[in-house]
Amino acid sequence: MKTFSDLGINDTFVKALSENKIVKPTDIQLKAIPFLLETGTDFIGQAQTGTGKTAAFGLPILQSVNPDIPVPQALILSPTRELGQQIARQLFKFTRYSPKKIFVESVYGGARIDEQINSLRRPTHVVVATPGRLLELLERKAINLSSVKTIVLDEADEMLSMGFKEELDAILAYTKGKRQTWLFSATIPPALKEIIAGYLSPDAMRVQVSKHDVINRDIEHKFVLCTNDEKSRVLFHFLKSQGKNRGLVFCRTKAGAKSLAQELMDENYNSDALHGDLMQKERDKVMRAFKNKKLQVLVATDLAARGLDVEELAWVVHYNLPEQTEYYTHRSGRTARAGRKGFSLSLINEADRPGLKMIERELEISIKQIHS
Ligand code: ADP
Ligand code: MG
Repeated sequence: MKTFSDLGINDTFVKALSENKIVKPTDIQLKAIPFLLETGTDFIGQAQTGTGKTAAFGLPILQSVNPDIPVPQALILSPTRELGQQIARQLFKFTRYSPKKIFVESVYGGARIDEQINSLRRPTHVVVATPGRLLELLERKAINLSSVKTIVLDEADEMLSMGFKEELDAILAYTKGKRQTWLFSATIPPALKEIIAGYLSPDAMRVQVSKHDVINRDIEHKFVLCTNDEKSRVLFHFLKSQGKNRGLVFCRTKAGAKSLAQELMDENYNSDALHGDLMQKERDKVMRAFKNKKLQVLVATDLAARGLDVEELAWVVHYNLPEQTEYYTHRSGRTARAGRKGFSLSLINEADRPGLKMIERELEISIKQIHS
């Protein structure tokens, strides 16, 4: 078995990683890290959520940063504020034993720009940004990218599907030159091919890992067969069995998420909904309440919950099956983090059976029926 040391990662990072139970490199980490440590060429990594991409690009970046130069040397672009903050938090954890401090700052829209401008005046080695806010900061000349050697586009497909094509074009045109660009994405849709053709080297290294390489999170998959009308009753019953354990309920639509959260509140559960209609401020409030354990049950849509890394979630419930198999992986990946066991429960009706079979087949998992 290869270790992070074998891949070329320094002992101080290895120590911090193992404290976070990150010991055995994942497939994308095995393939990307040795290459990215060498630096120089562009890189395209295709891998699903939950395959450990943050460490795959984050460790080579942290290791390449010169702490004595107090200006940004790497820029990581992320589709949402939550994901950006999560990346910054993970990198911060990795630097715990670094002999010299490495400063990672995250900037994003929906929050006060003047405060972010002030933060950027302090020594900053790595910037994590959402595309729109980065452009604003560039316009105000509040960020200096002249020493940036590496640009990471994380969840590139998601940035495009959120409508950041123009912003990405502007940023990449601005930063084009001697810098290396590392792109990570679960899928490579046509718009992303354009970006790759326009801004990445034709010699870019390409690495792909399969669906099955998602970090094995020790998840137990179960389903309950019921009618749509019975679902909320089944859910309440399940919640009783879970005591104080916290978890996420996934709905397909915003309206569904809102009304289910209301039903839960009516039953006196500490619950709220996370969906695309919320203002950034409201999203933050909900997220904070969930992370601070003030909420026991968060009801979310797929897009709103993408990439969330909340610790200690005991379970997820698929109140509706997801539209794509891939989402089932994303959803279930919210539980059983950091070596804990997790439980993934699907509430399905007769018509959902073929969909569930397909998920089992594609992900090579077995989802067992339980009776509520
Ligand atoms: P992705 O960006 O591919 O969705 P992340 O980088 O966010 O995945 O990692 C998902 C979770 O897995 C995080 O909680 C992270 O700490 C953990 N993780 C990352 N690499 C490993 C590893 N090699 N072994 C165990 N856990 C890991
Ligand atoms: Mg990620």
